[in-house]
Amino acid sequence: MIQIVTTKGGVRDCVATARRRGESVALVPTMGALHDGHISLIEAARAAAGFVVVSIFVNPTQFGANDDFDRYPRDLDGDIGRLELAGANVAFAPEPGQVYPEGTQTSVVPGKLAERWEGEVRPGHFEGVATVVAKLLNIVGPDAAYFGEKDYQQLRVIEQMARDLDFALEVVGCPVIRDSDGLALSSRNEYLTEDERRRAAAIPHALEGVADAVSAGETDVAKLEAAMRGTLETSGFAVDYAVLVDPATLEPLEALTRPARVLVAARIGRTRLIDNSLVTPPG
Ligand code: AMP
Repeated sequence: MIQIVTTKGGVRDCVATARRRGESVALVPTMGALHDGHISLIEAARAAAGFVVVSIFVNPTQFGANDDFDRYPRDLDGDIGRLELAGANVAFAPEPGQVYPEGTQTSVVPGKLAERWEGEVRPGHFEGVATVVAKLLNIVGPDAAYFGEKDYQQLRVIEQMARDLDFALEVVGCPVIRDSDGLALSSRNEYLTEDERRRAAAIPHALEGVADAVSAGETDVAKLEAAMRGTLETSGFAVDYAVLVDPATLEPLEALTRPARVLVAARIGRTRLIDNSLVTPPG
């Protein structure tokens, strides 16, 4: 039976009880509106840890003034049902005042990894992410925390934060879970109209196009990026970025002489989607 807690003290008590039973503890931070991508993280956490805490918190500090905080999908009852089926032990669903009590003034400012791409399009986003993740890690005190590669830059920022700030835990990255047409599952897919949802397959197609061209020997980064942009724009997307980067530093690559992360962010209608993949040149 899942325990639903809304306070820091409540979640700490649950974790302390599990620790007394000798169980290891995993945390899966989410913003709710749970889908199979989230569930895959919970399954990975369950395979490694005896006690799995899933946080559900739409974190206001990682949304900018023009972002979608107000309309972000929320479905706590549905989420609890899914968590129960997935075998999570605790759902931690705090109110904003619990996480950011009156008088809060400290935050975590990530470094260079957070500057480009999402960091540039969404100023302050990664400061909000790093701060809330640091707080959740300190509240729950897990042995491991699970994040999706879907938000690849976020995963890198959190790995770096854990290292730089000496969090004594393992940060585990999990593969992107996709729909049958290749679109990465995302709570934001709910915003798409039927027509936009059909067009959204252009994102995985753009990523597959890069993989195919690379397998065929293409190493010209500018050409690969232009082809992605073309695929996305033809389907009606406005492209924020479509780039090949160093998988560790996220700095742009001049030539494809080693494995690269392909990062994409694009907008259609009122929806902004992100995705990524790894490409490795042959030989
Ligand atoms: P969110 O609720 O969007 O903040 O996501 C919570 C966690 O789930 C983050 O670590 C995401 O990277 C991860 N996640 C979201 N979508 C997917 C997906 N399609 N596949 C794998 N992980 C995902």
